[in-house]
Amino acid sequence: MKEPKKSSITCPFCEEGVLKNTKCPRCGRIFLMCDECESLYRDGKSLEEELPSTECPFCGTAID
Ligand SMILES: [Zn+2]
Ligand SMILES: [Zn+2]
Repeated sequence: MKEPKKSSITCPFCEEGVLKNTKCPRCGRIFLMCDECESLYRDGKSLEEELPSTECPFCGTAID
């Protein structure tokens, strides 16, 4: 199994988009958002967790 290259993780949900680092405007923590389907992931090690796609995974703030 290959290590994913840093900063270019393919979205495991749509398998097309790339996960981009996104900073929460409220808590300032970095999470990953797919640039195609807008799925959210906490980090590169939590790609199997299903998270609400509209909330920061850390503080729950709504994300536009
Ligand atoms: Zn995606
Ligand atoms: Zn947050």
